[in-house]
Amino acid sequence: MAVLEGLEFGKSDFVLLDEVNIEQFMENLKLRFEKARIYTFIGEGVVSVNPYKQMDIYGKEDINAYRGRELYENPPHLYAVADAAYKAMKRRSKDTCIVVSGESGAGKTEASKYIMQYIAAITNPSQRAEVESVKNVLLKSNCVLEAFGNAKTNRNDNSSRFGKYMDINFNFNGDPTGGHINNYLLEKSRVVQQNGGERNFHSFYQLLRGGSDDMLKSLHLHNDPANYVYTRDGAVATTSYNDRYSHNTVLSALNVIGFSEEEIHSIYRILGTILILGNLQFETDRESVLVVGMEDVSHIAELTSTEPDNVTKSLLYRTVATGGGEVIEKGHSEKEACFGRDAFTKVLGWTHQYKTIYLSSNLTTTLGLHDRLCHINTCVCVSLLFSFEQFCINYCNEKLQQLFIQLILCQEQDEYKREGIIWQHMDYFNNQIIVDLVEQPHKGIISVLDEACLSVGKVTDTVCLESMDAKLGQHPTTPLARWLLPSDKTMEFHRDFRIRHYAGDVTYSVEGFLDKNKDPLFQDFKRLMFNSSNPVMKEMWPDGQLSITEVTKRPLTAATLFKNSIVALVEKLSCKEPYYVAYLGLLENVRVRRAGFAYRQAYTRFLQRYKMTCEYTWPNHLMGTDREAVEAIVTQHGLQDDVAYGHTKLFVRTPKSLFTLEQERAAL
Ligand code: ATP
Ligand code: MG
Repeated sequence: MAVLEGLEFGKSDFVLLDEVNIEQFMENLKLRFEKARIYTFIGEGVVSVNPYKQMDIYGKEDINAYRGRELYENPPHLYAVADAAYKAMKRRSKDTCIVVSGESGAGKTEASKYIMQYIAAITNPSQRAEVESVKNVLLKSNCVLEAFGNAKTNRNDNSSRFGKYMDINFNFNGDPTGGHINNYLLEKSRVVQQNGGERNFHSFYQLLRGGSDDMLKSLHLHNDPANYVYTRDGAVATTSYNDRYSHNTVLSALNVIGFSEEEIHSIYRILGTILILGNLQFETDRESVLVVGMEDVSHIAELTSTEPDNVTKSLLYRTVATGGGEVIEKGHSEKEACFGRDAFTKVLGWTHQYKTIYLSSNLTTTLGLHDRLCHINTCVCVSLLFSFEQFCINYCNEKLQQLFIQLILCQEQDEYKREGIIWQHMDYFNNQIIVDLVEQPHKGIISVLDEACLSVGKVTDTVCLESMDAKLGQHPTTPLARWLLPSDKTMEFHRDFRIRHYAGDVTYSVEGFLDKNKDPLFQDFKRLMFNSSNPVMKEMWPDGQLSITEVTKRPLTAATLFKNSIVALVEKLSCKEPYYVAYLGLLENVRVRRAGFAYRQAYTRFLQRYKMTCEYTWPNHLMGTDREAVEAIVTQHGLQDDVAYGHTKLFVRTPKSLFTLEQERAAL
């Protein structure tokens, strides 16, 4: 049992702290980490600290130790949380979700892999072939998603640049029968540009360094990433990631997942197309803009199964509808051509990622009971200058915090009310105000951004910032700092704005916000791809069949699309029982759990588990009601000050009392 671990390892559950304050919290975390205890409970959630070295705690014996046990019977571990979520699903037919959050490099991706391995290990004891193959696909999907969605950043050699939501469906035996993966906001801009020391997505380097000579030849590629504009800067970056080796792993995973040969080829052709497009240059000859190097154009046409003339045309012209309904072709300037090309490659990168997910969802079969395992990559960091993508991710974190507050606090309050337990009022910070600031229709930040993007004429980032300042600078709680004050030395004049997020202040650089939000892709590229004779590619571009006059005048912006997907995600999660591997709002979390009761159980079930520890209840109690019998057990062990009696359930304030009971039970 966790408590038996001994206090020399610190408190194994933060709710056992003498006082809830940051000093005690950190002291406990530090002490445990020094003793190689990287996990600590907060009630049913677990806090994890990245050890940055292999720990010998994920073996078969460890899995067996947690399998089917109660949360407090073992030291804190991801396996304890995974098992609790799994048991809740199986025993009580409840949909559950595990939310993994933390900043970049915190260990979310690794944690989610351990959780999946655990679920895979404890299910399908009879080794049924169809279940094994579902498990195999779920496990293998990680390496494919990581290849196309992860990259080396300055904080993490294997940083996920997208959020992931994974559904696993279970049958009534509790064995996985299918799955579904959604992802959110791939950092598309990385395809064309990376910060110093960072890399493009792994898949490009894997292909170039690990692809066979034949494969590279058929894609018209050379094997050195230094040859390509999009991978050139990252080519020299050292990384712990082995590109050559992982290329083959990804290829075989794609096969296991069930991609056809044709689909696999198409994926690599798209990668090749992106790399070649990135090297294209344009020149101006008198008035007209031309592509330099027609050989590249014909390679692109070959890889995308399109016509070279059409490729050239999409690169150099755009079709526009005039006010009078007339359709004309307008030639790009050199700058516009580069911009159009980059927009095209970014969307190619994304469509391709989307396709991966979509195909892996083909295996979905839902049978009766199901459970959802959810893993969302989130990161919020404080006091660095942040970009549009980070703004979106931080908004996602605000939504998750709001969900947490609603689920834990509101559910707790409701349950206490139902059970007739007196609720002690508790102050906590409700971040709804920040969520509103970002997402409110007509007056939130996203809406101001959208307005600026859709207005006619040239609106610059700075103008947009001024508009935000005018609309939101006086926000009641002023979470938006006054960015126009030149006296504030930490902020650059007319460029930055600050949001007081619940996890801390974050300063964003407005530069590039409008472009990234608009992210316009000329219809001509969509049509080009829709006309591809490769059915796999054609299918990815259904919008390409629209004529320019049919194309919506107000396309949804990136921020709005992201908002819509997050709102839908939160809606999905809000009806599930949440389990957390978290790092945000931890103290708040401890306060909530402490003010309330760490544990509760229906009288009948409590009795079943502990009746043998009391002479009045073993083997059967002779009292009037189960509640009276439970009272007898509680009193016999001297726990009466730590509990409250509800209408149908016993509420236990601290896990300590539970440890006592478990000890008594084990000693028999
Ligand atoms: P991002 O938000 O950038 O995707 P992340 O939270 O997913 O970050 P991970 O990729 O899971 O972070 O972890 C970063 C690195 O930390 C891993 O590559 C690994 O080297 C190390 N690491 C994380 N968790 C563990 C662990 N439990 N044991 C050993 N090493 C770990
Ligand atoms: Mg990750």
